[in-house]
Amino acid sequence: MIQVKSAKDIKSMMKACELSQQVLMYAGEIMKAGMSTLELDRHIHDFILKHGGKPSFLGLYGFPGSACISVNEELIHGIPSGNKIIKDGDIVSVDVGACVEGFHGDNAYTFTVGSVLPETQKLLKTTEESLYEGIKMARKGNRIGDIGNAIQTCCEKKGYFIVKKYIGHGVGKDMHEDPEVPNYGKPGRGPRLIPGMTIAIEPMVNMSTESVKVLDDNWTVTEGNGKMCAHFEHTVLITEGDPVIMTQISH
Ligand code: MG
Repeated sequence: MIQVKSAKDIKSMMKACELSQQVLMYAGEIMKAGMSTLELDRHIHDFILKHGGKPSFLGLYGFPGSACISVNEELIHGIPSGNKIIKDGDIVSVDVGACVEGFHGDNAYTFTVGSVLPETQKLLKTTEESLYEGIKMARKGNRIGDIGNAIQTCCEKKGYFIVKKYIGHGVGKDMHEDPEVPNYGKPGRGPRLIPGMTIAIEPMVNMSTESVKVLDDNWTVTEGNGKMCAHFEHTVLITEGDPVIMTQISH
């Protein structure tokens, strides 16, 4: 069932989204070559606690980290590890959420470390663009399929592959709520968007194939051919007017 949020709910959720945004930006600022993904995760964990939130992902379905940290050919759900050292030229996707006043925020960004190949930068740019193309469609009266179609069109036009196995979602008191928000679809299909809905829109895009693999740790999802991949995400509020990007509030 789709949960429509009250004004009071939205006020609390704004705080969660603001902290989610802040910790994601903080992760991008402190990450550097030589740091392990576990060390990065510990900083993320401490930042969330210090600012009055709880790490939404910690323990969710048994996940052991406060953030999913996925490097290069890893798309999503990378487990922070002391053995995984970030190197110059890597791309590092951080997916993180914070819980404040009983509500969750959810956002992700794929960062570059040092000098990254131009073809990889192009993939990141297109994936991020597709997120904003999707958000533009997150308007009252539109349908979920309009969002997915905008994302898919933007990425496929550039020759990239939408991962269909993993999708965005409603978010609120639970990290994963209805509706499902696929990164593909047909215009005019799916649940209708109504003011007060809060959804996580999160294109996951591969360089060379739609397929993915799951590593032996049963968490880490990788690009099917071991090529680069990208993930960007915002939590978005449907309103009477323009969509509000809850994880991108300017200060
Ligand atoms: Mg999400």
